[in-house]
Amino acid sequence: MRVYNFSAGPSMLPEEVLKTARDEMLCYKDSGQSVMEMSHRSKEYGAIIEAAETLLRRVMNIPDNYKVLFLQGGASSQFAMVPLNLMVKNKKADFVLTGAWAKKAYKEAQRYGSCNVIASSEDKTFSYIPALDPATFSKDADYFHICLNNTIYGTKFAELPDTGDVPLVADMSSCILSEPVDVSKFGLIYAGAQKNMAPAGLTVVIIREDLVGEAQDITPTMFRYTTHVENGSMFNTPPCYCIYMLKLVLEWLEKLGGLEAMKKINEKKAALLYDYLDQSEMFHATVAPGSRSLMNIPFVTGDAELDKKFVSEATAAGFVNLKGHRSVGGMRASIYNAMPTEGVEKLVAFMKEFEKNNGKGN
Ligand SMILES: *Cc1c(COP(=O)(O)O)cnc(C)c1O
Repeated sequence: MRVYNFSAGPSMLPEEVLKTARDEMLCYKDSGQSVMEMSHRSKEYGAIIEAAETLLRRVMNIPDNYKVLFLQGGASSQFAMVPLNLMVKNKKADFVLTGAWAKKAYKEAQRYGSCNVIASSEDKTFSYIPALDPATFSKDADYFHICLNNTIYGTKFAELPDTGDVPLVADMSSCILSEPVDVSKFGLIYAGAQKNMAPAGLTVVIIREDLVGEAQDITPTMFRYTTHVENGSMFNTPPCYCIYMLKLVLEWLEKLGGLEAMKKINEKKAALLYDYLDQSEMFHATVAPGSRSLMNIPFVTGDAELDKKFVSEATAAGFVNLKGHRSVGGMRASIYNAMPTEGVEKLVAFMKEFEKNNGKGN
């Protein structure tokens, strides 16, 4: 029996997508082989990677002056690749520290230039998105970096900072494809695929054309965006099977009605859980309403033993990976695109029952 998997990543994939992958596993269309076995330079595979890019452009409404790259190395490699390629004018960038991933991006970039912290929410375990004052932004920064959705803490920027002519760079690993975004507001978007796009192994980069070309001299060939732009993400062997899976996920998304429809479903799913958390006497959301993520929802009882009991009973009931990140404690439900509404409804029903059996008066 398949469980409801609330993992922060790798995470659930749409069941329909897995079934298509199963059906095409041994023989993709009339190729006589699995996508896993294909030459990445074959005609069949060429059609797959092209379709994946076309679909991503259509679903995200990516303007023509942006390049789409299918890379490896995870979002974590982008923490270095972004500064190596973008810190070329003044070797300077601004950062907002909203969590562990945002901090890692900041730390790594410090190896390549001067990094300025505009704001941080570390004082309260990153449980909110700090207010930003554009007057404090560096006018001469090569880019301005944010982590749009903070996977570990369950916060999300409700609005984008206005960085003027300074390119806005966003780590969207845990919210890409969850709702529409205006790509033209960004200089560069990157995301590890294993949360909302595909299995682990693929990293998607969306970069405005004018930001491609230069890089610091020390930049390895594989770490230059130019290398991958000039070779259509085929300078070396791309993560072929993951790109195929992304294509299937995008087909599923498009059939569902695209990102507008996905957003409505995600809002409904998140509201089911937040509404319950806000009225429960036992469980509490750790993030205040203005900063809440649609994708990652941390919650606590305030009693570590009770948290443990809950996680253990939930696991036994088929709701897995609900244990919170070690830095926050408690629980976290990651409800990415592929988590069915029914999964959240059943989780809330389970929580109500747990509260009844373990709450005050028992
Ligand atoms: C998961 C995650 C990462 C790390 O991604 P890798 O692909 O494992 O390097 C970085 N940033 C955010 C926001 C994430 O959720």
